[in-house]
Amino acid sequence: MNELPEQEWARTVQAAPQACRDLVAGVAQAHCAQLAKLFYDSMLAHPHAARFLNHDLVHQRLQASMERWICEVLARPMTDPAAIVALQRHVGEVHARIQLPIHLVARGARTLKQALFERLDAACGHDDPLHRQAVAYVSELLDMALELMTEAFLRNSQRGARNDEAYRLFSLGQNMSVERERQRSVLLEWGQELMFSLHRVPRPGSLPRLGTSEFGLWFHHKAATLFEGAPEMEQIRDCIERIDATVLPRLAQPGLLPDEGTSLVLSLQQELDNLKFFLAGLFEHQLEVENGRDALTRLLNRRFLPSVLNREIALSNQQGKRFALLLLDIDHFKRVNDEHGHDAGDLVLQQAAALLLNGVRNGDFVFRYGGEEMLVMLVEVDAQASLRIAENLRQRFADNEFLIGQGRRIGLTVSIGVAVYDQHPDPQYLIRRADQAMYMAKNSGRNRVWLAGDPLADG
Ligand code: GH3
Ligand code: MG
Ligand code: MG
Repeated sequence: MNELPEQEWARTVQAAPQACRDLVAGVAQAHCAQLAKLFYDSMLAHPHAARFLNHDLVHQRLQASMERWICEVLARPMTDPAAIVALQRHVGEVHARIQLPIHLVARGARTLKQALFERLDAACGHDDPLHRQAVAYVSELLDMALELMTEAFLRNSQRGARNDEAYRLFSLGQNMSVERERQRSVLLEWGQELMFSLHRVPRPGSLPRLGTSEFGLWFHHKAATLFEGAPEMEQIRDCIERIDATVLPRLAQPGLLPDEGTSLVLSLQQELDNLKFFLAGLFEHQLEVENGRDALTRLLNRRFLPSVLNREIALSNQQGKRFALLLLDIDHFKRVNDEHGHDAGDLVLQQAAALLLNGVRNGDFVFRYGGEEMLVMLVEVDAQASLRIAENLRQRFADNEFLIGQGRRIGLTVSIGVAVYDQHPDPQYLIRRADQAMYMAKNSGRNRVWLAGDPLADG
């Protein structure tokens, strides 16, 4: 039975006796202003709320629409069920737009329900059978409304997240080398401006702050999107903070002795050097992932693994096709570095990547998973086919001679763990199984392929 939400709504309302609907409608109308206030009070009491709501906004805009909402849902539920459903979805969309977390709404709804129960109590007493019916009816309507809101909220938040991601990719598409040079030079300009102010006579009352300089504005607004999650972001933020909050105020003190001034300028120079170093790291890091490929091996960057994996899981669930992960780790790779140097190790990694790319099909994905660990996602394969391919790859490595510079060559082997997708919805679980299988391959002697057991069969 595929009941539409508006049909379910109408059925629920009609199932309640008229006396019960009248009671609830009366209580809702009589107390809607107070109830709306309680709803927002309980939301505002939550520590997360301040980021999304403030008291003025609530008083001026939101409380009145909440009052109307209470009346629509509880006092006039049958006027137009389709409109009521549309209203809940609209509210969910608005919450997604202002990024009001759904748990805050659920908290408000919980308070609202409790307050309604108390008022129903007062209106007809606990022992009246009508009271029990009214409590169940109110619960059902509010839960349905929240369910519709949540659905719309999630749908729209995901769309927002996709747009954010698209914007980030667009930003990445901007020329990073140009951006890097520009930011270096605006940082330099700030330094010069500061030096100029320090040498002016008389000394100006306040010095130019880094946080509000051209560089600071770029950093706080644009870099936050461009380099989201990069470790250097935090370090740069701290540098700016230290310069603005500690060094500059001390430099600006009247009557500073020359010695103190010199040592402050030196520590400022130190902070700026650090900042430039972090900035270089930030861009370097980003240039690597600019087109999603690992800088050394040109394999797919690991950070794309979750999206690729989630998409493949969805495809597999829709079309019933299987796929598999192969986790490869080069055996005794440390020895290559130790005996022939790090550059030789890098050369080997590049050849290993090429070997893998040539050994799989066009539709398969090859990621650099870690230092000398690579992860292959084989699409549309079962256990047998994935074992065959893994075995073929292992053999290719064992047969190959790897160049390590100056005409020298070495042999290498790999250990491979294989895990076939087993319908478990968590992608991390599949990776873990491949990882465990790889360790089994290592522990049982290296240069071999190990298939992760079917956990259901094992159990
Ligand atoms: P095992 O057979 O147990 O895998 O032995 P292993 O020596 O390969 O051990 P392990 O996986 O712990 O060591 C991996 C080494 O790979 C450590 C690290 O120095 C080296 N490595 C990681 N990334 C790179 C890289 O980008 N270039 C080079 N040259 N070496 C790397
Ligand atoms: Mg390793
Ligand atoms: Mg290794």
